[in-house]
Amino acid sequence: MTEFKDIATPARTKAILDKYQLAAKKSLGQNFIVDTNILEKIVSAGEIDDQTTVIEVGPGIGALTEQIAKKAKEVIAFEIDDRLLPVLADTLSPYPNVKIIHQDVLKADLKTFEEEYLKEAERVVVIANLPYYVTTPIILGFLESNLPIDSMVLMMQKEVANRLSARPSTKAYGSLSIAVQYYMDAEVAFIVPKTVFTPQPNVESAVIRLSRKSVPEVVVKDEKAFFQVARAAFVQRRKTLWNNLQSAYGKEPEIKEKLQRALDQAEIDPKRRGETLSLKEFGRLSDALVAEQLTVLK
Ligand code: SAM
Repeated sequence: MTEFKDIATPARTKAILDKYQLAAKKSLGQNFIVDTNILEKIVSAGEIDDQTTVIEVGPGIGALTEQIAKKAKEVIAFEIDDRLLPVLADTLSPYPNVKIIHQDVLKADLKTFEEEYLKEAERVVVIANLPYYVTTPIILGFLESNLPIDSMVLMMQKEVANRLSARPSTKAYGSLSIAVQYYMDAEVAFIVPKTVFTPQPNVESAVIRLSRKSVPEVVVKDEKAFFQVARAAFVQRRKTLWNNLQSAYGKEPEIKEKLQRALDQAEIDPKRRGETLSLKEFGRLSDALVAEQLTVLK
């Protein structure tokens, strides 16, 4: 095994796994990339340069980390699996600009993380081949954290990528599309065949690119209320907005009156389905519900 060969080749990956007697842990979503072309495409979608600080989730044995480290100012990577720490110390030893944080990213205090690691950062990008079992909480955790993230390039299950980037009136459009597109423009960058992983996952994968909206598409009075109504509208997809809103906010005559007034105010037909509403319409509806002092009681 020479140190000069990329980690992401089938031969080098096998040699590393053999050397450390490691088997990929399914429960941690471990599917390692063994194709440098895919990694180059991911890195290039991140448009990183020597001014960019990259946050990575799940460096694994370092395949993607290595390719990022060659271009970025620094890479800070969260890895949950302690078995991988000595491996990463070995495989990434040629890259002094890599810092591994041994932590479950979902439990990380991102405020403290920001103070500790991002004070000097000029441009922050998240790049990751995500563990698929926690894709959504990881993305939402970063978005809701208010970290100064410019863009995110993320590999995930293709079906989830389609949901994140879905437009209104499509099957994939739902509260997740709204939660993400509230902050970011979302587009599927490319589809990834199973053959680039070891072990191969059961599902198809895609890389999505999320870029911070330069101007917010909607500005709402109360973000919590906005996400609440967006969730409520999709609880029963085949039902009308009117039905879903009553289920969420209440069926009492007084509540129904308020709901009707809010819908009128937002100029939204109660007979429409939630899946037809744009982000802006959800914003108008949310503000009208807040004006009527309607919140989901849960
Ligand atoms: N980046 C490597 C690659 O592309 O070959 C490995 C990607 S693998 C799909 C996902 C990685 O995320 C694994 O290394 C796994 O141990 C790690 N991981 C899983 N859950 C995690 C969590 N909650 N926090 C941090 N890392 C996690």
